[in-house]
Amino acid sequence: MSPAAAAKGPPFRRVALIGVGLIGSSLARVLRREGLAREIVGCARSQATRDTCLKLGLVEAMHESPAAAVAGADLVVLCTPLGTYDDIARAMAPGLAPGAIVSDVGSVKEQVIRDVVQHLPDGVHFVPGHPIAGTEHSGPEAGFADLFAERWCILTPPPGTDEAAVEAVAELWRRCGSMVEIMDAHHHDRVLAVTSHLPHLIAYTIVGTASDVENSIQAEVAKFAAGGFRDFTRIAASDPVMWRDVFLNNREAVLEILQRFNEDLTVLQRAIRWGEGDTLEALFRRTREIRRSVVAAHQAGTFDAREPDRASRSRSDPDRPGRPEE
Ligand code: NAP
Repeated sequence: MSPAAAAKGPPFRRVALIGVGLIGSSLARVLRREGLAREIVGCARSQATRDTCLKLGLVEAMHESPAAAVAGADLVVLCTPLGTYDDIARAMAPGLAPGAIVSDVGSVKEQVIRDVVQHLPDGVHFVPGHPIAGTEHSGPEAGFADLFAERWCILTPPPGTDEAAVEAVAELWRRCGSMVEIMDAHHHDRVLAVTSHLPHLIAYTIVGTASDVENSIQAEVAKFAAGGFRDFTRIAASDPVMWRDVFLNNREAVLEILQRFNEDLTVLQRAIRWGEGDTLEALFRRTREIRRSVVAAHQAGTFDAREPDRASRSRSDPDRPGRPEE
């Protein structure tokens, strides 16, 4: 923290994290490291997670009840799977203090806004958010303070949201090391369907298909898993509950992009069948350029030492997974 920021004190008095898994625990760690909250409390449904969070010193207190966790908090961040939002928002509403800010980290935004807003009392501000950062690991032990560093965080405040509340959440993410973008929720969901949800669906499919191939080659698939397939298996190891909820909550945008993808795949299928090498090469050249622009934007998410982009700037453990998630 800069001396000027330190003199002002933590921007939040009490932050309640509802869900302290990969994302919630990473937030707890960076909030602590940067001195962004005087007190952090958490909520998890299992005793095991509550014990782990206390043992790791991530929070001052853990609660089972969302209403108890949010009592007296000036910032509440939902960090649970999307399918829990409706019930949790209903359960925590009676405990929310007037003037409190509620935010979240969910990977889909339009449905989330519908699920949460309906339960919030007047005078509570809702600033939905989505850090574009993650790994395929889950739980409080998987988090790390640098997860959000140099990553985008998208905020999707509904029209009319209190501007000071939006700025307070934006500033929090900036101080966690993120770059912040404000976006319409519908637009967010369409963009993420392309950049994150479709790639995960493809990875789940490829790994599923590989596991179904006839026995004669199955052993070799695992044994000779080369770069491409290995990367897919990492993405396909992402949390099943989280991703189930992503697809159920972003149904329309995912189905729309899947339709486009199927059409494009058919073009490639045809090109291979009829030996149209020019078609294949033209596409592969175009996609190589796209990769270069992703690297140039510092969003490559790789720890490949041959890529100066990340190798020179990474503060993380090289064994730590890449950051393909959203
Ligand atoms: P995670 O590691 O599985 O952690 C989920 C946490 O939520 C756990 O603490 C879990 O507690 C708690 N929880 C689950 N159901 C609950 C309930 N009904 N009541 C109270 N607590 C409950 O998940 P995550 O990866 O951090 O993902 C959390 C959110 O972040 C999701 O909405 C996801 O869309 C979003 N997100 C994830 C990524 C990513 O790459 N993983 C990236 C960006 C955004 P127990 O352990 O006790 O079950």
